[in-house]
Amino acid sequence: MISKKMQEQVKNSSVIRAMFEEGKRLADIYGAENVFDFSLGNPNVEPPEDVKNAILEVVNDSNSTGIHGYMNNSGYENVRAAIANSINNKFGTAFTPKNIIMTVGAAGGLNVILKTLLNPKDEVITFAPFFGEYRNYVKNYDGELVVVSPNTIDFQPNLEEFKEKITANTKAVIINSPNNPTGVIYSEETIIKLSNILREKQKELGTDIYIIADEPYRELAYDNAEVPYLSKYYENTIIGYSYSKSLSLPGERIGYLVISDQAADYENIVAAANIANRILGFVNAPALFQRVIAKCLDAKVDLEAYNKNRELLYKGLLSFGYECIKPEGAFYMFVKTPIENDAEFCSLANKKNILIVPGSAFGCPGYVRIAYCVAYETIEKALPGFKALIEELR
Ligand code: PLP
Repeated sequence: MISKKMQEQVKNSSVIRAMFEEGKRLADIYGAENVFDFSLGNPNVEPPEDVKNAILEVVNDSNSTGIHGYMNNSGYENVRAAIANSINNKFGTAFTPKNIIMTVGAAGGLNVILKTLLNPKDEVITFAPFFGEYRNYVKNYDGELVVVSPNTIDFQPNLEEFKEKITANTKAVIINSPNNPTGVIYSEETIIKLSNILREKQKELGTDIYIIADEPYRELAYDNAEVPYLSKYYENTIIGYSYSKSLSLPGERIGYLVISDQAADYENIVAAANIANRILGFVNAPALFQRVIAKCLDAKVDLEAYNKNRELLYKGLLSFGYECIKPEGAFYMFVKTPIENDAEFCSLANKKNILIVPGSAFGCPGYVRIAYCVAYETIEKALPGFKALIEELR
């Protein structure tokens, strides 16, 4: 009895989640300590101490209707003001609370903005490899996801093909940097070129094309790498942010959208996004966590823990003969499979109790994603399995 659209979405339901289930199954058989689950981007680094303190402060300081009540669909004004100030201090922007809408994580934010912008058959371009859920999010509003094929040399977007894929139906471009699954940060040069292409195309086609910058990994950049702030390069920009990874709070579902007032039709987009937040059934972002993050805007997770994992895994895999580029951000490594079939490689890895996700799930076959947001010991214990795998395939 389920709808045709859901039948399809169930059929294509996330490979990543399936892996997570497989991990639980293997853990029941072999014990959790003998299963090396690199399948899900679930941060293993503790939220900063400030978060715990802020939760207690909020709960102890306020009366309960104050903490738990409904508020404006866009979120608390003072929280949005604090976020706008913090962004302005970091990036020299001039946002006000009007530019900010609190959302139910990055996923909530993406759904809100896609509902706001898309008519059926509108096209949304993204660059492979990409977070597979974009397919579902765009389909939710009967849009078409148009995928630009991967540039496997350095995993910066393939801008030649991008230019060719922009049509009169292109409504938005989703970019995700630091990137899931490659860990690549799109360079300033890339962002400038991409923005110029969009400006030219807007002029040529007489349309507006929005960049939706999906930025849950913004804070996770190694070696002080710069992550360009998109609204400084392109007027029609909407930024989706989340605290899921930056403060290790994925289950709490808290993030925000920044809608630049330089964006065409800004006032209407803000008004519509507010209503989208309500009528999608989110109503508003979680009240308690809005207040908590307002007290933790400068808090940081222990990036060095991910960095240590990155170094160990990268050096280990390279020494065994695997090929991959060193991630500059996020907590994923995107590794070329020694055999062509990435799904088969993942099945072979499963036999060594190693759970990883095929690149096909991200629109880039021939690779696998290893989420290294796990304990250091998990990587140490899994490395011999990775070594044996490549040796058996030689
Ligand atoms: N976008 C990307 C690229 C992601 O990797 C994720 C989660 O892994 C999300 C969005 C969703 O994040 P959230 O948990 O904040 O909804």
